[in-house]
Amino acid sequence: MTRRNLPALDWFRLVAAVLVVAIHTGPLGSFSPAADLWFTRVLARVAVPYFAMLSGYFLARGGWRGTGRLWRHTLLLYLLAVAVYLPLNIYAGNPVTWRDLIFNGTFYHLWYLPALLLALPLARALAKSGRWGVAAAAGLYLIGLGGDSYYGLASRLPGLGVLYEVSFCFWDYTRNGLFFLPLFLLLGAVFADRPLPAPRPCARLALLGLLAMTAESFALHGLKLTRHDSMYFFLPLTMWGLFGLLLAVNRGQNRAVRRTATLVYLIHPWCIVLVRVGARFFGLWDQLVENSAGHFAAVVPLSVALAFALQALAGTHNRRLPPEVRAWREIDLNALRQNTKVLRAALPDGCAMMAVVKADAYGHGAALISRTLAREGVDLFAVACLSEGIALRKGGVRGKILVLGWTDPAQAPLLRRWRLCATVADAEHGRALSAQGVPVHVHLAVDTGMHRLGIPAEETAQLAEMFALPNLRVDGVYSHLCTSDGDATADREFARRQTEKFSRTLALLQGLGLDPGLTHLQASYGVLNPGCVQGQRFDAARLGLILYGVRSDDTPVECALPLWPVLSLRARVAAVHPVRAGEGAGYGLAFTARRDTCLAVLAIGYADGLPRDYAAKGGVVLLQGRRCPVVGRVCMDQMLVDATDLPRPPQAGEIATLIGTDGGETLRAEEAAVACGTITNELLSRLGPRLGLQTRET
Ligand SMILES: *Cc1c(COP(=O)(O)O)cnc(C)c1O
Repeated sequence: MTRRNLPALDWFRLVAAVLVVAIHTGPLGSFSPAADLWFTRVLARVAVPYFAMLSGYFLARGGWRGTGRLWRHTLLLYLLAVAVYLPLNIYAGNPVTWRDLIFNGTFYHLWYLPALLLALPLARALAKSGRWGVAAAAGLYLIGLGGDSYYGLASRLPGLGVLYEVSFCFWDYTRNGLFFLPLFLLLGAVFADRPLPAPRPCARLALLGLLAMTAESFALHGLKLTRHDSMYFFLPLTMWGLFGLLLAVNRGQNRAVRRTATLVYLIHPWCIVLVRVGARFFGLWDQLVENSAGHFAAVVPLSVALAFALQALAGTHNRRLPPEVRAWREIDLNALRQNTKVLRAALPDGCAMMAVVKADAYGHGAALISRTLAREGVDLFAVACLSEGIALRKGGVRGKILVLGWTDPAQAPLLRRWRLCATVADAEHGRALSAQGVPVHVHLAVDTGMHRLGIPAEETAQLAEMFALPNLRVDGVYSHLCTSDGDATADREFARRQTEKFSRTLALLQGLGLDPGLTHLQASYGVLNPGCVQGQRFDAARLGLILYGVRSDDTPVECALPLWPVLSLRARVAAVHPVRAGEGAGYGLAFTARRDTCLAVLAIGYADGLPRDYAAKGGVVLLQGRRCPVVGRVCMDQMLVDATDLPRPPQAGEIATLIGTDGGETLRAEEAAVACGTITNELLSRLGPRLGLQTRET
């Protein structure tokens, strides 16, 4: 199994941290002032905006809900850093002033932290205004430019020079939390709401931006117009391309690298001091201090080594448990994106996709799936219950969320608090919801023959009553087909009758002057068997199962869409035992070896969602790309497989595949469901939260 991992976003943090070290050591200074100018005052200027864009990107992906946490975290880090650099302030005779503490940072590299503290709430407020917010941040940036690289021009304009002069009573540079960072936070945030960019155009843009910045910088320095040189007109353009490129090629993450980058950034000025002290002590002043390249080459490894040492001391190195240590779900996000495209094309024009992400997105991880879909432009989601809806909001999902199941009317305030839309299960339920005195948005379920939830289709008066109830805002009307997955003539016929009933009810409501809002009828099988709805059109289709690239079983359907399975299920081999012919194994010794047998124990069991009698129904797993039968009774946390026929005995730690592909062999979820005695829907939705969740992009 090959899984290519390229945590580009995290690795570039480390690159950016090293570029900051370069700014403060000027590695090329001893050789060519022009080359050093380009390296440290042009190229390395991408470092700090990159940090800001990352923050903006991840905050926006979480609906900016993490802003307060990041703010507190930054404050703590800043206070710690202030303390750590206090000895150097004292040694250098630089008293710490309020002005430094609030705007400039108490040490030369620390300005970023107070700037972030100022910029975070500002950017969050601006983000609420969408494009206008970005425009406002760009305006602030332009003002900042006038106090930075373009000061020579701006200060000559009447009045403006004085304003800048006054502003410098508060801060040393306009490269701060007011003028500099908000734009980059918001540019990062813009990426959070769009589909992944293509790498090539981004790379071209980054290169073009860098060339333009080079020309800009040399011109400004040549004309001696700069007061400082952190801000360029073409810097945002360069950052847009660079960030897009890194985002496009990023696969996975590496927390250790991320932490190392932060530490290198924070501690490198101390390392500069240590290198100077060491150089004097060992008589290497010329090589390690006077020679700028030697200086840089000493400070960088020392900073990285110290960063590692600090992490080892704090015991935080790799503290997070990786998902693939025991048993896990592997989610192929590209397959999900592909399915979204295929399904959108399959739906009739004007029919939107409502992504059904109940039961933790059928075991796929609801927040992960919903956020990925949101980035593909999906903005309608459905869950089964209130708690799932709230979890989705907390996970940063911003689209419309419909609760398909019953909601306790007493919880109406929570519906409102989390902007969730409830299903009216029947007339009495609707009245009870209305009686709570809290305005709530609802969809009316119409019972067209399934007799589960819904107001009977014939009860037009009851349906109309719902529209008139105080506090209920009817945003939609829907029904559910209960035989669209069958291939018998009677099944299709029943579904057609349900469709007819539903359409008639909608027409009646419209005849009464009532607007049903969003109408929806089909679930997955209503799309796979479109004959059920006889070409009728509704505003949306509620798609669950097929979004995940599977079908309930192998019953033939009218429309075989090219869907990719999104989930693989894998587990580690925990132990391998030889068992003599005639010996038994597992609970109740339910397995008896007929021959000398190699038993592999897998670290996955019925508590993870597999049935206890998986072996009896023909359960198999893939090991070394071959099928091995499950034997004995499945335990709560383990199961046994017969690995005797493998070319070599498996080893502890080896990966077994319960659903998915290994080598040339594939075990489909539909097959596994048959061995579980059920349909894929049940098998997947039972996969336990104890399983790790790993993402992959093919
Ligand atoms: C679960 C559910 C769906 C999604 O069904 P799939 O067959 O998985 O697409 C749609 N509508 C309702 C009311 C549901 O409960």
